[in-house]
Amino acid sequence: MNFLEKKICDEGVVLSSTVLKVDSFLNHQIDPEFMQQIGREIANRFQSEGITKIVTIESSGIAPAVFAGLELKVPVLFARKKKSLTLTEDLLTSTVYSFTKQEKNGISVSKKFVQSGDNVLIIDDFLAHGEAALGLADLVTKADAHIAGFGIVIEKSFQVGRRKLEEEGYRVESIARVKEMSTNGISFIQSEVM
Ligand code: 5GP
Repeated sequence: MNFLEKKICDEGVVLSSTVLKVDSFLNHQIDPEFMQQIGREIANRFQSEGITKIVTIESSGIAPAVFAGLELKVPVLFARKKKSLTLTEDLLTSTVYSFTKQEKNGISVSKKFVQSGDNVLIIDDFLAHGEAALGLADLVTKADAHIAGFGIVIEKSFQVGRRKLEEEGYRVESIARVKEMSTNGISFIQSEVM
């Protein structure tokens, strides 16, 4: 088991066969040292890719993205879900459907922060159906920037997200890949990271 898989087993709560709660270190309270380790691991996997920018989505993608950005020494841009009073510049927008909240959200970033020369690493906390990831990819594509790949903290491999991203030709790196989960336990697709 790698360091994240162990943390998920110790602290994660399986709410149903499809929803995992990890409020103690990722989605509500954040464990900074642990998050730094996550960010470092994501950064290592894309170290040689010439990343110029990280793009994520508020709010739970921000912590892993910032630590990855610290390692790669690149800025981190987070897409907003709600219209912000201060976000008045030209915007790139897309729509994301959330299966957990069963609602559609418009997401946006300012055009000035992602541009055609950028080589972007997209980071998020969870990969489930791939909606958030594809929405972020849409924003980056609208900016004419290149997508180097996706760094995901927890992938639920029994859902279709990874397949959708791979079908689009994207590289997907997930630190933990949940194969199956129930109140009896969680199993993972083996990874090389310890
Ligand atoms: P997707 O767009 O891939 O269907 O879902 C990804 C987004 O939904 C993530 O950004 C995450 O916020 C949320 N999400 C999906 N599945 C889970 C889950 O099992 N647990 C938690 N905490 N969030 C999830």
